Amino acid sequence: MKKTEERKKNEIRPDMQVEFICPRCGTHLAWALPNMELNCPKCGNWVTNQNRKKPDLDLMLPTDDDQLTLF
Ligand SMILES: [Zn+2]
Repeated sequence: MKKTEERKKNEIRPDMQVEFICPRCGTHLAWALPNMELNCPKCGNWVTNQNRKKPDLDLMLPTDDDQLTLF
């Protein structure tokens, strides 16, 4: 299937992965979808897209971008 929808940059989309960083201890947890909740292994804090600590450069990884699937 081809996606024909226009892509807006700098907008969090449900299929974009964001960097989850614990707001309490600053531990980098993982790249995950914004609707995920991750449990910080260090302090037990639940990190969501709402409370995650955002890095200076808040990058998002598209999950379907061929250019970024090399990782
Ligand atoms: Zn933590």
